Amino acid sequence: QRISTAYRDGTSTALARWAMASNDRYPIIPGPVALHVVRTEGRHLVTADGRRILDAGGGALVTNIGHGRAEVAEVAARAMQQVTYVLPPWPTDARVELVHRVLDEWMPPSITRAGFTSGGSESVDTAIRLARQHHLSAGRRDRWKVIGRRPSYHGVTVASLAVGGHDDRRAGFEPLFPGFPHVPWDDADALDAAIREAGVDTVAAFIAEPIVGSSAGALVADEGYWRRVEEICREHGVLLIVDEVMTGFGRTGRRMGLEHWDIEPDIVVGGKGLSGGYAPIGGVYATDAVVDPIAAAGDSLMFFTYGAQDVACAVASAVLRILDEEDLVARAATQGEALRRRLDDALGDHPHVAEVRGRGLMLGVDLVADRDGDVRFPREAGVFRRVVAESLARDVWIYPSSSGPDAPDAVMFGPAFTVTDEELDTMVEVLVASIDAAV
Ligand code: PLP
Repeated sequence: QRISTAYRDGTSTALARWAMASNDRYPIIPGPVALHVVRTEGRHLVTADGRRILDAGGGALVTNIGHGRAEVAEVAARAMQQVTYVLPPWPTDARVELVHRVLDEWMPPSITRAGFTSGGSESVDTAIRLARQHHLSAGRRDRWKVIGRRPSYHGVTVASLAVGGHDDRRAGFEPLFPGFPHVPWDDADALDAAIREAGVDTVAAFIAEPIVGSSAGALVADEGYWRRVEEICREHGVLLIVDEVMTGFGRTGRRMGLEHWDIEPDIVVGGKGLSGGYAPIGGVYATDAVVDPIAAAGDSLMFFTYGAQDVACAVASAVLRILDEEDLVARAATQGEALRRRLDDALGDHPHVAEVRGRGLMLGVDLVADRDGDVRFPREAGVFRRVVAESLARDVWIYPSSSGPDAPDAVMFGPAFTVTDEELDTMVEVLVASIDAAV
């Protein structure tokens, strides 16, 4: 009845009103904050009731070229007519172009092989299977464990949840691959000890984000951490999987997050910024040394039906082209510094802010009950969510990062790289007002 009234009425506003009235049916389990969005443009979300929300979180640190670029839509329309669906392992023009772009222009030279999925979690899951298959094909049947860090976030498929180290997100799903150990995010010696304790010949891989993202508000490890991690992995024959789903494709002001520390990975995982939100796509990238034993044994990996979907591949190439043509990675670095300066100035001695941290346009603000006494908010207070709700009430979307026993209360900024100085001013003003209102 409501639907037909809306259609008869003929306006999208009426449809939107109907959809809002249906919010008890979507999403399947309602979350704490949600707005009905009817349009996105530039760096803004437009809601059914006409509000313009500044997208300071870039959704979930996804949008990099901004919303609503007509040239990307045109590429998508053409691609859909040219190739609608072809099995993921078969080459197509769009796939071949994207493989060349990503491997030749974005990955370190040692990374020479690519596969595509439809998102970050699927890519992490695929990387785990790739690592295990690598050892299996080489005759090392017992190397199946994957070590993760705490805190960390790698996705919501069962395997990516299992390597992740965020208690709140794992809660309710335990036991999750009980053999997957976790080590503190910043302690390379603990990794060495964990590999030995698990049994060196049982460990397939170690997975880590260059900067710990959504579980912890952009934690950056000390200089020297990554060199040591590489040494430990090499010494024990453990593959190093670098999860660039959040940090990749310019977000941190470099092309990939691993460039900040010259990390030499065996496998890289990406998603989000690869298509900047325009299409569901993620990727798994690896060295010849990872893939060769699998091919030599005549083994392969199963694919996802929508892996490397052709329109998504064409769209991702268009987004990467725009990032380059408009020099947007450099802009992520300069606007990231500009945001950092504003946050430091506004929050440098705020009693409820322990730290502003991160790189480029991936910045986290760590919220505490008492900065001087180093006292955290009680977990059940959910302060980071209240800050996000207050910001949304002031028409700015800030990304709610986390809270938990092993994770700080933190919020994150991750706008499109095209963000203006005036928008940075607004983001910081609103965050300050929202912290004061929420605490
Ligand atoms: N890995 C990292 C580092 C992430 O930040 C995320 C998402 O936030 C994922 C994996 C999961 O990606 P997706 O949500 O696209 O499945």
